[in-house]
Amino acid sequence: MRKLEKGPAPEVLRTNEATWTQAYVAAPKEERRKCEKWRHSAIKDALHEETDFKCAYCEAKIIDVSFPHVEHILPKATFPHLAHSWSNLTTACGVCNNGKGDYYEENAPILNPYTDELPTFIQHRGPFVDWTAGNVRAEISVRTLDLNRPPLLMSRTERINNVRELYDKWHGSIEPLRSILAAAIRIDALKGEFQQTVITYLRDRNFSNLIINQNRHRSPRKSGRTTLASKACPTTVDRESAKGCP
Ligand SMILES: [Zn+2]
Repeated sequence: MRKLEKGPAPEVLRTNEATWTQAYVAAPKEERRKCEKWRHSAIKDALHEETDFKCAYCEAKIIDVSFPHVEHILPKATFPHLAHSWSNLTTACGVCNNGKGDYYEENAPILNPYTDELPTFIQHRGPFVDWTAGNVRAEISVRTLDLNRPPLLMSRTERINNVRELYDKWHGSIEPLRSILAAAIRIDALKGEFQQTVITYLRDRNFSNLIINQNRHRSPRKSGRTTLASKACPTTVDRESAKGCP
């Protein structure tokens, strides 16, 4: 699970949220399905850009294995008035979406990738996602979402192996290849699957100072926010690897 940042709400939601919410809440439960306006393509597009087509919980690139679900962070069954609230919407894969279902406990809700300080809850150890010892809420989240299911462990292991190969090449290289490889590692870590798994691997090898503002990373598409190119040349990179930055 990685930290996510909310982008601007799509205009169609800003315009219609109140009306859609009113209709959804007022509808009998068996007829609410007719009022599910969060499936609007503009909303899906905005969520996909925000999450880069990766599941908000397991970080898998959804488009490779499934189709993305519009996920209600607080379940719509318990919080129908938040069913069309932009801050309550994200993208999830089908497995995490089904695993979470309508789970909600006031004292132990599933971790929110947008608002919770994830490093205090979640630890990444090799291909595993672990909870901070004694943190019941984090343990419930990992278990409910089944974040260590075998396909994820296999994918994370494969990811680590690929990063290791690139890292070893960087470690044994000299300039100018060294700077080029450093940039490639940085972009791969920010754009690829299982970001926190990769970043933890690199941080354990003292590569972390190449990856700053990781939580603020946004897709360069449409948003006009800081792009990967500018992320690739942070102000606090180690001197040797920063030689390739203009
Ligand atoms: Zn998932």
